[in-house]
Amino acid sequence: MKQTADVVIIGGGIVGASVAFHLSERGCTDVLVVEREAALGSGSTGRATGGVRAQFATAINIRMSRYSIDFFTRFEEATGHPCGYEQAGYLFVATSEAHLDYLRRTRERQRAEGLTNVEIVGAEEVARRVPGLRTDDVAGGSFCQTDGFIAPLKVLHGFMARATERGARLWTETRVMGIDVGEGGRVAGVMTSRGRVETRAVVNASGAWAAETARLAGVEIPVVPLRRQLVSVRPRAPLPDGLPMVIDMSDGFHFRPESRELAMPGALMAWPDDAETPGFKDDFDPAFAGKVFRRARARAPFLADATVNASRCRAGLYEVTPDHHAIIGESREVGGLFFANGFSGHGVMHSPATGRLVSELILDGRASLLDASALGAERFATGHLLDETSVL
Ligand SMILES: Cc1cc2nc3c(=O)[nH]c(=O)nc-3n(C[C@H](O)[C@H](O)[C@H](O)COP(=O)(O)OP(=O)(O)OC[C@H]3O[C@@H](n4cnc5c(N)ncnc54)[C@H](O)[C@@H]3O)c2cc1C
Repeated sequence: MKQTADVVIIGGGIVGASVAFHLSERGCTDVLVVEREAALGSGSTGRATGGVRAQFATAINIRMSRYSIDFFTRFEEATGHPCGYEQAGYLFVATSEAHLDYLRRTRERQRAEGLTNVEIVGAEEVARRVPGLRTDDVAGGSFCQTDGFIAPLKVLHGFMARATERGARLWTETRVMGIDVGEGGRVAGVMTSRGRVETRAVVNASGAWAAETARLAGVEIPVVPLRRQLVSVRPRAPLPDGLPMVIDMSDGFHFRPESRELAMPGALMAWPDDAETPGFKDDFDPAFAGKVFRRARARAPFLADATVNASRCRAGLYEVTPDHHAIIGESREVGGLFFANGFSGHGVMHSPATGRLVSELILDGRASLLDASALGAERFATGHLLDETSVL
C-alpha cells in the first residue's frame, strides 16, 4: 500500500518534536516523525545540561532565545505538559577587564534586542549569589534572572504528545535510508526501513547526524559532531538554594545545580575540552572528571571534594557549524528539503523558535518570527558567516 505524508521529519529529538508541534498548531497534522531508536531523545537531547539563556552576543541568537524562553513560560498552556522551566539565572564571571568589557558590550546588544534584565554585577554581588565561590580575582560579571534551566526530555515529550494528539504520526525504530529527489530537483519521498513514504517536504532534524542525512539527498552541510561531557557530583554539604548556572569566563568551566526532581540532587560540572576532536564518540571518559575537578578546585572549592555520581555522568554530541549558529531554511539545491540543524550546543534552548521558523517556512514560504535568511546554509558558500563569541 502506498504510504504518504505531507511532511516527513527525520529525527525524534527535541527539534523534530518542536517542528511537529508547531506544524500541528497551524493545522498541518499529516506529519510523520521518523526516529531510528526505540526511545525518543536517545540522541543529544537526552544528554543535555538543560540550560537556557538569552545572554548571547548576536542579534539572531538573542531573538531565538527571547522567543524560546517566553515560550517555556507558557509551555504547559501550549502543550498541556510541564517543561520544568526554572528561572535560576546564568551568571557569567569575568576575571579580567577585557572579559568584563565584553559583557558590557554584549549587554548593550542584548538591550537593543529588548532583553533589558541583564545586570552587570561587581565581585561582591558574584560572591553573594554563589557563596563559597573564589572571587578574590573576580572583576565582575553579568547576570540574567530569566535565564535558567528546563528539562529537555519533558520539553521533547510535551511537544510530541500534543502533536500526536492532533494527528501527527511517530515511527520509532525506523531508519531513514534515502531521500528521493524527483523531477525539478524537489523532494519526492523518503526510503525508510518500513518502506517508502511519498512526501512534498522533508525536515532534517537529525542532530549530530545532520550531514549524513543531507547527503542522502546529495546535499552537503557543514555540521560536525563533537563530544561534550558532564560530570555529576554530590558535594559534601548541600548546595545553597537558588544557585544559577555559573560560568568562569577565564577557562569556560561551568556548573549548575542538578534538578531538584532527582533523588539527592548535586551539581553538574562541564568544561569545553580543547583536546576533543570531531567524531561520533559518545562514551563518557572517566579521565575527563580529573580535568574538570582541577577547574573546580580553582573556582568553586566547595565542589572540589565532592563525590562523583558515576551513574549520572554522561557524554553526548554537539552538532557544530563553522560559525556556531544553526542552519535553518530550505535547501537551495533540493526544493522541499528543510534544515533544522547545527545548533552548536544550543538546540534544546532554541527548539521552540526553530519549530516556529521551520513550520512557517514550510507552510508560508517565509518566516514571520525573524528574518531567517541569515541562517541559510548558503552562507557557508558566500562567506556571510555570523559570529557568536558566547559559546560554552
Ligand atoms: C553534554 C551536552 C550538554 C548540552 N547542554 C545543552 C544545554 O544546556 N542547552 C542547550 O540548548 N543545548 C545543549 N546541548 C545541545 C543539545 O543537546 C542539542 O543541540 C539538541 O539536543 C539537538 O536536538 P536535535 O533534536 O536536533 O538532535 P537529537 O536530540 O540528537 O535528535 C536527533 C535524532 O535523529 C535521529 N536520527 C539521526 N539520523 C536518523 C535517520 N537516518 N533515521 C532516523 N532517525 C535518525 C537520532 O537517533 C536522534 O534521536 C547539549 C549537548 C550535550 C551533548
